[in-house]
Amino acid sequence: MFSGLSSLVIEDVTDQDGVIVVRARTAGQMVPCPRCGAGTGQVHGYYGRTVADVPADGRQVVVHVRVRRMRCPVLDCPVQTFREQVPGVLDRYQRRTTRLAGQAGEVARRLAGRAGAGLLAALGVPLSRHTAMRVLLRLPLPEVSVPRVLGVDDFALRRGHVYATVLIDAETGGRVDVLAGRTVEVVEAWLRGHPGVEVVCRDGSGAYGEAVRRALPGAV
Ligand SMILES: [Zn+2]
Repeated sequence: MFSGLSSLVIEDVTDQDGVIVVRARTAGQMVPCPRCGAGTGQVHGYYGRTVADVPADGRQVVVHVRVRRMRCPVLDCPVQTFREQVPGVLDRYQRRTTRLAGQAGEVARRLAGRAGAGLLAALGVPLSRHTAMRVLLRLPLPEVSVPRVLGVDDFALRRGHVYATVLIDAETGGRVDVLAGRTVEVVEAWLRGHPGVEVVCRDGSGAYGEAVRRALPGAV
């Protein structure tokens, strides 16, 4: 039932007003410093993350995970403490486990709007239409490879209200990334974080032109 949480140690499972509440912690193994790679088991402190998991028997499942803040053992490492990551279970800034986000995103991708939200509700995943769209935007994409020729376009999530930006490799047609919003700042930040684009094909909002001028003054 909790196979997706198999990297965690489950300490307690309780029924709280019909919601299945799982208390879990990380297994306590050595983890590498994200900066220098030194392995460490030194715990600086603990913090809690609460995420929703896939429903069990039609009931919501909420997981409280105790995660460690680790101390890097290398004295001159610029990273003194860091949060341990729980890949496959907790992604940064997510309020759902990876598998719930993946399932919800799959539903949102196939059944847009109210139909998707309705199906998820029937499955025991209370997710508004807008949240379903946000889940879709946060779906982990394969490692971003920076294309030489980048296509940039916007699309409406809700008619005329909420926009996202889709980045396409113009040479292969593959989707490179999806950004929430279509402002100069959003696109500029992505371009600055992913150097290597030589040519940008853009459509839609004029903000894209401004973002390209700021981040890639040498691009075509
Ligand atoms: Zn370090």
